[in-house]
Amino acid sequence: MDTVGPDTLLEVKGLKKYFPIRSGFFKKVTNHVKAVDDLSFSVATGETLGIVGESGCGKSTTGRTILRLIEPTAGEILFQGENLARLTPHQMRMKRKDMQIIFQDPFASLNPRMTVGEIIEEPLLIYNLYGSDKARKEKVRELLQVVGLKPEQAERFPHEFSGGQRQRIGIARALSLHPKLIVADEPVSALDVSIQSQVLNLMRDLQKQFGLTYIFISHNLSVVKHFCDRIGVMYLGRMVELSPKHALYQEPLHPYTRSLLSAVPLAKPKMKRERIILSGDVPSPANPPSGCTFHTRCPDCMDVCKTEKPPFIAMGDGRYVACHLYTK
Ligand code: SF4
Repeated sequence: MDTVGPDTLLEVKGLKKYFPIRSGFFKKVTNHVKAVDDLSFSVATGETLGIVGESGCGKSTTGRTILRLIEPTAGEILFQGENLARLTPHQMRMKRKDMQIIFQDPFASLNPRMTVGEIIEEPLLIYNLYGSDKARKEKVRELLQVVGLKPEQAERFPHEFSGGQRQRIGIARALSLHPKLIVADEPVSALDVSIQSQVLNLMRDLQKQFGLTYIFISHNLSVVKHFCDRIGVMYLGRMVELSPKHALYQEPLHPYTRSLLSAVPLAKPKMKRERIILSGDVPSPANPPSGCTFHTRCPDCMDVCKTEKPPFIAMGDGRYVACHLYTK
């Protein structure tokens, strides 16, 4: 279990999200997709925690479940010590001011029929902030400037903006309620590479300016390398490794992390790294393999891996791994 201290903002304990699979005439529940299966970690104030893994590993479901946009099946979500999983819908709505999300697709996440000003103003209206119409509009203009857009662009519609600008609008909306935590779900993966770094730089500046804490979800280890302080690697709904960024890139412990990193281009092209190609596809989370769920693809698989689930163990220096290579 990840360590918790006085600066811990969020602590997730034993989080599970199972989606029922129904079949037959009476739509009986016959199985579950274990999208998030017993996840535990913490995030410190001002930290950026990256959550990385292939598509379908449960990283986006994790982000949404933490914010209770999806209801958890089990587990605790302690935000500043308060268990969000126990809050009533009304209490959770009030708490959500402190926790916002930035979505992957800036094209789909903005209402095309609203002006940009209306989109950013909407949360302020919902929470009845800034009293007068004039004060709210002024706040919207200020937020547009904070994210590098012009105040007069408030009158325009989303389709008049580029992808990078639309993501800036999404960020302005997320910032409008002065959140403490922002879950950024693949915030730059729909953008051109040249635009990606501009948006990441903006997010980093805003973090300093407003003391934000980020959970940064990505399938791309190259992107999180420059942005995150620590990185958690997920596979089939579980966290298999959690580590400070530099240690993870220098010496990945889990065979899955090693294979993911072997595909990341090196900064110096002359340096060579052996590419580890995994066999087979990611198994279905509705029917995960026994023991270590990675055993069907792992180049280091041993007999014990097929039957015993490896515990998530502390390796020192803030590193954790779930792998039998380190339990014997
Ligand atoms: Fe590979 Fe076994 Fe470690 Fe799983 S527990 S990652 S199968 S060595």
